Amino acid sequence: MIQKYTLHMHTVGFDGQDTVQTMVNRARELGFDTVGISNHFIVNPVVKQAKMYFYAKIGGYSNIYSASFDEVLSRFVPHYEDLSRAQEQNPDIKILRGMEVDFFNNPKWRDGFEKAIKILKPDYIIGSAHFVEYDGKLLNMHDLKNSDAKTQDILLSGYWENVKNAAHSGMFTWMAHLDLPKKVGLGRAEQWADFESRAVEAAAKSKTAIEINTSFYKPDCYEPYPSNRILKMVAKNNVTVLISDDAHVAKNIGRHFDEAAQLIKDLNLKTFTR
Ligand SMILES: [Zn+2]
Ligand SMILES: [Zn+2]
Repeated sequence: MIQKYTLHMHTVGFDGQDTVQTMVNRARELGFDTVGISNHFIVNPVVKQAKMYFYAKIGGYSNIYSASFDEVLSRFVPHYEDLSRAQEQNPDIKILRGMEVDFFNNPKWRDGFEKAIKILKPDYIIGSAHFVEYDGKLLNMHDLKNSDAKTQDILLSGYWENVKNAAHSGMFTWMAHLDLPKKVGLGRAEQWADFESRAVEAAAKSKTAIEINTSFYKPDCYEPYPSNRILKMVAKNNVTVLISDDAHVAKNIGRHFDEAAQLIKDLNLKTFTR
């Protein structure tokens, strides 16, 4: 196996479906020696007014959205205690404390985030952008999909601006699923290549890695996040990569790792070392 660790995983209590122990058991079965649990860390004062919050409530995963840092801490403090207990009970496998953080580019968010990190002391931090702030509201990828073409372009440039700023901040160990809008079929046109390249250059400058996220592979579009177009920019800029499964359920751990490893070889990508 090219990579004996898997660090992007979600568990019960957030939006994952399996417990930490179930995830650890499956990872061990597959031969991983290190796992990391990286539940969503999403703090925004207007998050509960967003359309997606309504759907998250119906779906039973609204716990991933916090309106304040106190609220997110009230979830992460006991969660990290669970991870420490899991480590005691599974001494044969290293269990790391991660988080998948949504970046919001304002001083108040940064200040709250830095204070929370001092309390939680995560082993690593994944940077991400699942939303676009627009017109005082938070929109997700599905809202993007449902907008008219002109608004879509505005939202997509907002998305890439946010990703670039997150990559530039140097706050993150690596960036998640860089071209997430392709989840809803957006952002594939050539016009977005410049935006992608600025985000990759920002990651290069701040020495932030980029993940190859294997959750996207579909029969009609057999590739991970990010696309080959972006991975070539990653290679050119000497940005390091690691493979993530983004598993929300134990059976998805390690999915398509072989294909991702082949991509690393074919494109001569530099691998991330912990
Ligand atoms: Zn994500
Ligand atoms: Zn994730």
